[in-house]
Amino acid sequence: MKPAPAEPRDPYQPTGGSTAFHVEHYDLDLTYRVAPNRLTGTATLRVRVQRELTELALDLVGLAVERVTVTGATLVRHQHRARRLVLRLAAAVAPSTVLTVTIRYGGNPAPAPSPWGPVGWEELHDGVVVASQPTGAPTWFPCNDRPADKATYRTSLTVDSPYRVLAHGVLVSTRARASTTTWVYEEQHPTSTYLATVQIGQYDRMLLAAGPVPQHAVLPAALRPAVQVGLAQHRAMMTLFIELFGPYPFEQYTLVVTPDELEIPLEAQGVSIFGVNHLVEPVEGDERLIPHELAHQWFGNSVSVASWQHIWLSEGFACYAEWLWSQAAGGPSADAMARLWHGRLAKLPQDLVLADPGHARIFDDRVYKRGALTVHALRLALGDDPFFDLVRGWTSRHADGSVTTADFRAHCAEHATAAGGQRLARAVAELLESWLDRPRLPKLASR
Ligand SMILES: [Zn+2]
Repeated sequence: MKPAPAEPRDPYQPTGGSTAFHVEHYDLDLTYRVAPNRLTGTATLRVRVQRELTELALDLVGLAVERVTVTGATLVRHQHRARRLVLRLAAAVAPSTVLTVTIRYGGNPAPAPSPWGPVGWEELHDGVVVASQPTGAPTWFPCNDRPADKATYRTSLTVDSPYRVLAHGVLVSTRARASTTTWVYEEQHPTSTYLATVQIGQYDRMLLAAGPVPQHAVLPAALRPAVQVGLAQHRAMMTLFIELFGPYPFEQYTLVVTPDELEIPLEAQGVSIFGVNHLVEPVEGDERLIPHELAHQWFGNSVSVASWQHIWLSEGFACYAEWLWSQAAGGPSADAMARLWHGRLAKLPQDLVLADPGHARIFDDRVYKRGALTVHALRLALGDDPFFDLVRGWTSRHADGSVTTADFRAHCAEHATAAGGQRLARAVAELLESWLDRPRLPKLASR
């Protein structure tokens, strides 16, 4: 048997993920004991082979694999080292073959180290938070850990009865037994592994607004009054973003407020996770985090990045949403915010290329702010109506998909041509080049 050709590596994905196969669906059947922090269960993956392969390398870290079965191919053996669970198959498997991989596993889950600190499954004082961006998903289930490898999910989690479980997707059943409850969620929207989540705590669920899409908070009962005040404007924010960005991409939106303080809030599919510190007596400036996380539902979660290289497409738009909300809420206008940040960026080193910042700098604040400035510069060049048409066209064209910077350039070229012919299209292409491809900070056109 001749060996399969070596897999091309994405330099932004050094720790895991594979393009040789695609996981279409994850069925996670898990049990978690809060006090001993013990997670056990079975993951059943529907895998579609993309390139001929003789082994399948999944990502799983910190948990022990008890048993693996494969249907659709003959498994010779499995080997689990560090972050990789490698399944060796008896013969080459052709592209388009569908395999069912079942993995029984368990252990004491813990966050995994990353260049940006520990990520993934993390114990709270009384419960669990899962915050996986960018590489934390393998701390709680075996997966193909690439943002572009989006799958549907069924997540069944059995916990001790006082605890509420929130997972992404729609709650389809809860079943109480003597001392435990099983919570089952189904996610029909293709979801990146880092956006798959479970949140466990002694939580209440509170309706924030029934429309235009249902918005809930999941939180300790004692925090209800303070969070109600902190999120009083949430319906208005959702309404504004639907108007500007297009239909909200999922069935509902849930904000989790943990009883513990968290360093930063994080997005998951249809969910944002905040620490008590972000919503109860927040420090000045933290109010921007609420529109930022909501905007990720469009930019990042529905329209995902094909590789972390293109993260500016998520963070730039989420940061721009902060400025749009600032203006709508009676604060400084988006234009004023853009000029403020342009002035600040001008004082920082200009050695970052937005379209290719390098793996170590994907969370550099300049990616966020210069990303938002790129969006604003595009708006200034196109005018408001064509610009927001472009944004809504972007979120609808790529809903549930994955995008690259090249996709964005092509989309802008189309819209600029429609709005102002070849001349505007050329100007927009040059503008994007100066913002995305050159380290030097371009000037911001006057309004
Ligand atoms: Zn963000």
